[in-house]
Amino acid sequence: MPEPSRAQLIHIDVDRRLGHEWDEWNGKPLPNQGNYDSPPSLFFTWSAGTLVALLAAATLLIFLLAPRLALLHPAVPRTLWTALAVVAAGAVLWWALLALAFAFRRPLLPERLAERGPFLGLMGLTSRLAARFGRRDWVENASVKVYNRLALMRKRKVGEGELLVLIPRCLSKATLDGVLGIAGKYDVPVFVATRGQLARRVIRERRPRAVVAVACERDMVSGLHDVAGKIPVLGLTMTLPAGPCKDALLDLPKLEEWVRSYLV
Ligand code: SF4
Repeated sequence: MPEPSRAQLIHIDVDRRLGHEWDEWNGKPLPNQGNYDSPPSLFFTWSAGTLVALLAAATLLIFLLAPRLALLHPAVPRTLWTALAVVAAGAVLWWALLALAFAFRRPLLPERLAERGPFLGLMGLTSRLAARFGRRDWVENASVKVYNRLALMRKRKVGEGELLVLIPRCLSKATLDGVLGIAGKYDVPVFVATRGQLARRVIRERRPRAVVAVACERDMVSGLHDVAGKIPVLGLTMTLPAGPCKDALLDLPKLEEWVRSYLV
């Protein structure tokens, strides 16, 4: 591994402070040693459930309000039912195109209608539903996999100095060394972002044209929601064998592959 001499590491914070995403952690070992690897189909199952739940809630609301709305004007309930039918048809069509794009690795939707648009909202809502059933981390792992494949399909390239690697403060020493080695090899700056807000500030100030971000599933989904709409991002999730926010491991060959995919 070459010396990471040219990599710029901007901040290191090695304290064991939990990210707020893990506030409710009870201190027990994480399931499967903090490895939430899940098939992408899990996202499609849960996101379909989320859409059905949203449409069912809207249906119930209109059903309950219809008698009162009809007093305003008899056409109001009918208009709302028609609008709901149009929205439902649009949502089903969009979701189906997303699934087909994923399955056949074809960019069937423009970025603003897929991974840099409503997909980010659906990912967040799906996480909330999964959290209610104690499946958040697994579903988020699957969501990030789907997001990454959609993003990689664009085959985006950036010039020298236009790529940034964002890492959290919780990487193990060996993993951090590996990240710096890769960053040095490709001359890419690395930032340690201790909180989501800092990550956003780094992006605002450095203005990269693409980012490879590393985080746990929880931090990744909220980070993608905030940033991916503004700038192309690939998100690499980690394994947490020592619990949240400490000694995290990641797939270094994949990190290198993604850095190369933006540069070469
Ligand atoms: S990325 Fe690391 S430090 Fe940040 S919340 Fe996740 S486990 Fe904690």
